Amino acid sequence: MQTICDYQHHVTMNHHMRIRYKITLAVGVAVTIVLVAMAFFYTHYQEQTVLRQNERTMEKLTESVAQGLQAVMLAGSADIAESYADRLKKVSDVLDFRILRTNGDEAFRDNKTILAVNKRRGEETFAPRETEMRVPVLPADDPNLLQTVETAKTLPIYERGDDGHRILTFLAPIRFIDSCSKCHGKGEKVRGVIKLTTSLASVERDIYEVRQYAIGALALALAATMMLTGYMLGRTVVEPLEKVTNAMARVSGGDLDHQVPIQTRDELGRMASSFNRMTSELKTTYDGLRREQDKLTTIIHGAGEGIIVTDNHLDIVLVNPAAERLLEKTAAQIVEEGFVHILDNPDEMRTWLAEDAAHAAITTEYKGRVLQVFASTILGSDNNVVGSAALLRDITEEKRLEEELRRLSTTDGLTGLYNRRHLDTTLATEYNRSSRTGTSLAVVMFDIDHFKKFNDTYGHDQGDRVLQAVARNFHDALRKYDLACRYGGEEFVGILPNTTLEGAYSVAERLRCDIEASEVDGLKVTISLGVAAFPELSVDSPEGLIEAADAALYRSKEGGRNRTSRAEPLADSTDAEPPPDTAALPPQTA
Ligand code: GH3
Ligand code: MG
Ligand code: MG
Repeated sequence: MQTICDYQHHVTMNHHMRIRYKITLAVGVAVTIVLVAMAFFYTHYQEQTVLRQNERTMEKLTESVAQGLQAVMLAGSADIAESYADRLKKVSDVLDFRILRTNGDEAFRDNKTILAVNKRRGEETFAPRETEMRVPVLPADDPNLLQTVETAKTLPIYERGDDGHRILTFLAPIRFIDSCSKCHGKGEKVRGVIKLTTSLASVERDIYEVRQYAIGALALALAATMMLTGYMLGRTVVEPLEKVTNAMARVSGGDLDHQVPIQTRDELGRMASSFNRMTSELKTTYDGLRREQDKLTTIIHGAGEGIIVTDNHLDIVLVNPAAERLLEKTAAQIVEEGFVHILDNPDEMRTWLAEDAAHAAITTEYKGRVLQVFASTILGSDNNVVGSAALLRDITEEKRLEEELRRLSTTDGLTGLYNRRHLDTTLATEYNRSSRTGTSLAVVMFDIDHFKKFNDTYGHDQGDRVLQAVARNFHDALRKYDLACRYGGEEFVGILPNTTLEGAYSVAERLRCDIEASEVDGLKVTISLGVAAFPELSVDSPEGLIEAADAALYRSKEGGRNRTSRAEPLADSTDAEPPPDTAALPPQTA
C-alpha cells in the first residue's frame, strides 16, 4: 500500500513539473515572438532613420559641392575645379568622386570643352591640356544618369559593394544657369553630373551594434519574463495544483479522512471542493460497507457452523474458527490442502459440488463426528461461477438425541423391552410379510401369575425388580430376529417370525420353565402363556393373532396357571375338547 502511494505521489509530481514547463514554454514562445517582432520593427525603423539621415547629409554635401564647383567655374577657374575634384577623392569614406559630362565621361580629362569655349569666345582663354584621355565612368545610356539629367534632381542609388557592405552613390545634377552661357553658350538644362560614392560600412556597423544591443536587451527581457512567469505559475497554479493532487493521491491511497485544502476560489478551488464532497460520499458508503462487513464477519466468526469459502479458482479465501474446530485442522492447513480435501474425501466432494441442483445436505462421519455438509458451487447473476462454499454442522449430539428419542419412543422404561406401540407397528409389518410370503408368524403372550398378591406381599419395588428379571429372561429366550415387548403391566408379547405354532410352543415352554426355576432376591414367580401362529390359525388381522394368543393365555389361567396353551380356531372352540397342554401344576408363590 505504501509503495503504491509513493508511486502515485511520484507520478503526480512529474505531472506538475510538466505543467510548469509546458506553460512556461508556451509563454516563452509567445513572449519571444512578440519581442522579436518588436525588436525587428524597432531596428528596421532605426536602420531606416540612420540611412535617411546619412542620405540627407550626403545629399547636402553633394549639392554644396555642386554649388562650389559652379562658383569656381563661374569664376572661370576650371583647373581649380579639377584639382578640387581630385582632392575630394582622398576624403575617407568617399570611395569615388567624379564630375561627369552628361554622356557619362569624366570631365576635365580632354580638351574638347576648352577648344569649344575658346572657339566660341574667339580667343585663347583656356590653355589646352598637354595629355588628353577619355575616362568613361558611366555608359551614356545609364538609366540613372539619364534620369538625373532629365529630372535635374539628386538621385541616391544603393548597391552592394565587393566587401559585402552597401555603398551609396549620389548622382547630383550641375544645373545650367544663365552665367554658364558666357562660356558654354546656350545649352541643356543640366550641364554635368556629380557622382559621389560612399561606403555605408560605418553606418552598417552602427546598425549592427544597435542590433546587438537590441538582441541583448531582448534576451534579458525574455529571461526575466520566463522567470517571472515560472514563478507566478508556480505560486498561482502549480503549487495549489500540487496540493490538490497530493491530497487526491492520499485519498485514493485509502486515507478517506484526508480533505483537500481549498485555498482559492477559482477552478482549482471548485475542483478541490468537488473532490472533498466525493470523498465524504465515498467515506459514508465505505463506512456503511465496513459496518456491514463487520456484522458479517461477526456472524461468520461467531457461527457454530463451519464455513469455508473459495473464490472462482477454488482457492480457499475464508475459513471460520468453527470449521477449524470441526475439522481439527488449522486454517492454514485447510487452505493448503485445498477445498476438495477438507473432509479428506476429494472424490466424494467433487461429486457433491457437481450436483449443483438440490444443494441437499450430506451427512458424513469425520473423525468420530457426524457432520452435515452443504457443499455447493455458487453462481453469480450472469451464471458465472463466483466460488464454492461448504457449510459444516456438527450433528453428532443431534444424532445421538434422535437415536435416544427413537429408543425412548419404542422401548419400555422399566424393562428395556420394546413397548406396545413398537409392537403394534412391527406386528403389522410382520403380518403383512407373512401374508405375502406364506411364511408362518408366531406370537407368544404371557402374564405373571397372581402378581397383584405378589405386590401386596413384597411391595411394588420388589415387583418391579421381578418384572425386570422376567423381561431379561424373556429377551434371552428369544432369537435375534424375534421381538420381545412389554404389552402392558405384567403382560408380555413376543413376535417370532418364521416360527410355527409348535416352534413357538416350545419357546414358550422353555421360558416358562426358566422363570419357574429362577429366583429374584430369593423369590419366585410363575407365568401363564398363550401361543398363536399364522397362517396355521386363520386370522384376518395382526390384532386377530394377539386376540387368539390372549384367548390361549386365558385358558392357561383357567387351567390352573404356570402353563402354556395353543390358540385354537375360534369357530370350533365351543365343542371340541382342548388338547391337554402342560400338566396342571399348583400355583406357586415362593
Ligand atoms: P392372575 O394370576 O389372574 O394374573 O392374578 P393377578 O394378581 O396377576 O391379576 P392381574 O393380572 O389382574 O393383576 C395385575 C397386577 O400386576 C396389578 C398390579 O398390582 C400389578 N402390576 C401391574 N403392573 C405393575 C408394575 O409395573 N409393577 C408392579 N410392581 N406391579 C404391577
Ligand atoms: Mg395381568
Ligand atoms: Mg397376572
